[in-house]
Amino acid sequence: MNVAAILKLKGREVLTAPPDTSLFEIAELLSEHRIGCIVIAEPDGKVSGIVSERDIVREIANVGASVLKEPVESYMTKSVVSCRESDTMDRLMGEMTAHRFRHMPVVDRGRLIGLVSIGDVVRMRIAEAEMEAAAMREYIATG
Ligand code: AMP
Repeated sequence: MNVAAILKLKGREVLTAPPDTSLFEIAELLSEHRIGCIVIAEPDGKVSGIVSERDIVREIANVGASVLKEPVESYMTKSVVSCRESDTMDRLMGEMTAHRFRHMPVVDRGRLIGLVSIGDVVRMRIAEAEMEAAAMREYIATG
């Protein structure tokens, strides 16, 4: 199972925001869309960073609530680790575990084409395990 299979199920829509969006506006977007992370992209679609709820909580604790007025580009993670459609779920799980993050943008020739979260990976893994168990039951019953 690879990233393409996940995108086929969940779709390719990714919520992005420009680098000058305030942290408060980012928090509003996270809440409105019930998500944990937003990709920060330039108007031409180039990914310039990623910000998650953890970044906002950390900066409120470090700086105080006044930080919410600041632009996200000052607090986002700039070295984004992305994946490709051909990557396997095992590779994704390895990267997420090694880097301790829960989201990975999917990129094709420099363009953002999707976003996979740890939740998507877990859902796929469960579906895969259920399919295997059903096939095994049928094999035993008919074999
Ligand atoms: P998360 O677990 O995804 O909420 O993110 C935890 C931390 O990792 C935050 O500082 C994020 O900005 C950062 N982060 C999340 N996803 C990525 C990614 N794909 N590449 C680099 N940093 C990331």
